[in-house]
Amino acid sequence: MLTDLTLTDAQEKLRSGAITSVELTQQHLERIQTIDPDVKAYLTLTENQALAAADQADQRRQQGDDTPLLGIPLAIKDVLMTKAVQTTCGSRILEGFLPPYTGTAVQNLFDMGVVMLGKTNVDEFAMGSSTENSGYGVTHNPWDLDRVPGGSSGGSAAAVAAHMALGALGTDTGGSVRQPGSFCGVCALKPSYGRVSRYGLIAFASSLDQIGVFGRTVEDMAVLLGAIAGHDPRDSTSMDLPVPDYRAGLTGDVHGLRVGVPKEYFIEGIQPEVEQTIRAAIDQFVTLGADIREITLPHTDYALPTYYLIAPAEASANLARFDGVRYGPRQSQGAMWPTYKATRGQGFGAEVKRRIMLGTYALSAGYYDAYYLKAQKVRTLIRQDFDRAFEAVDIILSPTAPTTAFRIGEKVDDPLQMYLSDVFTLPANLAGIVGASIPCGFDRAGLPIGLQIMGPAFDEPTVLRAAHAYQHATDWHTRRPTL
Ligand code: GLN
Repeated sequence: MLTDLTLTDAQEKLRSGAITSVELTQQHLERIQTIDPDVKAYLTLTENQALAAADQADQRRQQGDDTPLLGIPLAIKDVLMTKAVQTTCGSRILEGFLPPYTGTAVQNLFDMGVVMLGKTNVDEFAMGSSTENSGYGVTHNPWDLDRVPGGSSGGSAAAVAAHMALGALGTDTGGSVRQPGSFCGVCALKPSYGRVSRYGLIAFASSLDQIGVFGRTVEDMAVLLGAIAGHDPRDSTSMDLPVPDYRAGLTGDVHGLRVGVPKEYFIEGIQPEVEQTIRAAIDQFVTLGADIREITLPHTDYALPTYYLIAPAEASANLARFDGVRYGPRQSQGAMWPTYKATRGQGFGAEVKRRIMLGTYALSAGYYDAYYLKAQKVRTLIRQDFDRAFEAVDIILSPTAPTTAFRIGEKVDDPLQMYLSDVFTLPANLAGIVGASIPCGFDRAGLPIGLQIMGPAFDEPTVLRAAHAYQHATDWHTRRPTL
């Protein structure tokens, strides 16, 4: 099956003429038809567009075009705008919304001849850790269909895990690429804030949002990141820095690499098998010649409350635009205010409303200093923790999530338990640094466990090199769910 190839293997086979993009795309679409009724990773399938793009890619190749991602089928999270292809953010308030343009990261892929298979399921406006907040139903974890795939990029992670795409784009505001990567047993990377343009990403929390990648190997992620990274004049937060050749940096060597293990990330409440597995992964780094040191990130405890002030505050402002006037279905009540109220009341789900209310409260006069401003100050302390740590170490290892995938329905009624799912991933967003998750083992129930690798801002090459070296020495990433 061509769906069993890694992205880089598929690249080689396309290049050598052993396969065509049309064959590769067709096999993916067939697999989606068979598997996705159970997994429900995709919200929208773009079959015709995919086959046309594949055909065009094959023609380009015949004419000698050798663009690296030419003809590669990928999945795109449904918070990234795609021209004339429905983009919902998992929300009923954007049902039927056809964006007038394609965002930069996706457009870069299209320009390289990537084949988009479809748009993947997501917690509404990327708020959540399980895809259960989607207005269009939950995605199921390919390893156990009774469990969540994580979130908010659960559809993208599940699609890659179940071989329904060679790779995928997601977005990560507090862990939404890494945590579903961990739950679904695939590789996931949140780049530094400013590494990838967010133009055309429908904003959740603008000071935290970043587009990230999923792949079945670190090498695949390196290729994808290289394709979407770089400066974009249409996103003033994207940095004007050269894009390294990420794949060329995968030397397999971590000899002498200084690896920090933060004691604050091995806490009560963490599933014992997760801790054991992460400790074993750290031992593997010792075997590979890395220099392991215990470090401290003293403000770690404050990351969760800080995030849950800043992210909802920014969300409350970003989501003000969804009023039924410009996008999506309008619940017309004649007058303006009743129309706004009905449109937002019916269009937004419970979690989004909770965030809008929390955020509006934190920003309101009289509470701004006590909540929002205070949170911003603590955010600085958290960033300084990392600055200090990275003076002594090159990367930091930790669990990606405190548990493996939980059961569908298990945490929906307990927002705090749900929020705790991201306790280890939020700090990297608050600090703007790199965070990756790679498979490093399984629990007794056969569910994947993810190892988080964090690195300083714009040091994606070192994070990827470490992840690749680990993968080179282990075979966790080659295990596949049986579906
Ligand atoms: N789960 C976190 C939240 O609900 C992070 C989401 C994300 O990264 N988009 O906010």
